[in-house]
Amino acid sequence: MDIPGFLPRQQFGELLQVLERSGYRCVGPVLRDGAIAYTEIASVNELPAGVMMQTRPGSVRATVTQLPRYFSWANGPQALKPLLFSPRETLWQVSRGDQGQLAFSESIDTPSPTAVIGVRSCDLAALRLQDQHFLQGEYSDPWYAARRNSLLLVAVNCTHPDETCFCASTGDGPDAETGFDLLLDELDSGFVVRPGSEVGNRLCADLPLQPVRADQLLKVDHARQAARDAQTRTLPAGDLCDALTERHAHPRWAEVAERCLSCGSCTQVCPTCFCNSEHDEARLDGASSEHVRQWDSCFTEGHSYIHGLVVRKEVRHRYRQWLTHKLGTWHRQYGRSGCVGCGRCIAWCPVGIDICEEVSAVLGDSDVY
Ligand code: SF4
Ligand code: SF4
Repeated sequence: MDIPGFLPRQQFGELLQVLERSGYRCVGPVLRDGAIAYTEIASVNELPAGVMMQTRPGSVRATVTQLPRYFSWANGPQALKPLLFSPRETLWQVSRGDQGQLAFSESIDTPSPTAVIGVRSCDLAALRLQDQHFLQGEYSDPWYAARRNSLLLVAVNCTHPDETCFCASTGDGPDAETGFDLLLDELDSGFVVRPGSEVGNRLCADLPLQPVRADQLLKVDHARQAARDAQTRTLPAGDLCDALTERHAHPRWAEVAERCLSCGSCTQVCPTCFCNSEHDEARLDGASSEHVRQWDSCFTEGHSYIHGLVVRKEVRHRYRQWLTHKLGTWHRQYGRSGCVGCGRCIAWCPVGIDICEEVSAVLGDSDVY
């Protein structure tokens, strides 16, 4: 990969200006309600300078320090998923004409070009999985595709993994290797900037980049290695489908169900979960209705409702279904695990249930380790 240069911190605002001149609205991380949230930004002053996160199972705390860096945290509850797979959207509308005839119309917005700043390697890995699901199957999802085509990605390598992160063990981080337009490595004095696409090359040509010094590259290498070494959680690599399905009667499923609230928070924050439900909303005049899609969760009772029967009545069945699909049958569908090691489901579970701990308890000393 080319290394075009170094962008001093005082000139980081130029990146937003170059993106805006190129026609992009900029979305970036901000500190909101004590967490990192992605929203439209107009200035680098809105980025979370000095913010550091202390994340543990069921607990997220932000601290604002005097340090200059914008990206000294790992992730927030969401990143790319809601920008591409909308939490709630109208897919089509139907209206009744004067003679009673029905007219259907698709509802696909034309999104404005959007540059997302601060994307992490786990987000890029999750995006590849969502692309597989929404774009590369037998039918492409036009609502997802429209937003995907409008996206430009400015990735940042992680230097501060959370206690809940384990992307190194799933092979999805903490370094971003592919799938971005620009990649940043943050130092106190500025950013090493590398292009990852033709668009990225063009953007680099418009930035006031300086030659990168050897000592700056050395600091970047050290920070990357330190980020890998800082991760203590692990998940067994490879296809766990047989190992998990063979243990469908394991007592641990009932034990975890005693703590699990079946709230679905883990699935809402997970960047790879894509379960959804659809329903029609009729207008009160009876002349039109909208067909709406919204995020659902395999932890809801309705998600396994089929012809008068809830298939997964008990919480232990729902937790088992989520874990076995995510780490097992996902391999059969998409050729890899559905977990990219971001740790969000651990941090944002209100009772601190830890996917790594649960897998370890179910598999025991099985030789899949
Ligand atoms: S299962 Fe948990 S750790 Fe894995 S990708 Fe989803 S939220 Fe992240
Ligand atoms: S594992 Fe945690 S976040 Fe997921 S449904 Fe159970 S209580 Fe909610």
